[in-house]
Amino acid sequence: MPLPPCPICQKPVPPRPENTSQPFCSRRCRAVDLGRWLGEEYRVPDRQVDEQEDELPPDGSNRGHDA
Ligand SMILES: [Zn+2]
Repeated sequence: MPLPPCPICQKPVPPRPENTSQPFCSRRCRAVDLGRWLGEEYRVPDRQVDEQEDELPPDGSNRGHDA
């Protein structure tokens, strides 16, 4: 069953599971299509995940070994 070409670049679309971006040939073309939906062509969304780790307060208990 032949797949329709990529609607963005007209290249043949690789089959699944190799290509998870169907009906586009690549994630880039999918992003382009998404950008068109948002009215901005050829803009790849740049999601930057910046996780900040909360530093746990140091354990204040001062357990000496005095006997
Ligand atoms: Zn494409």
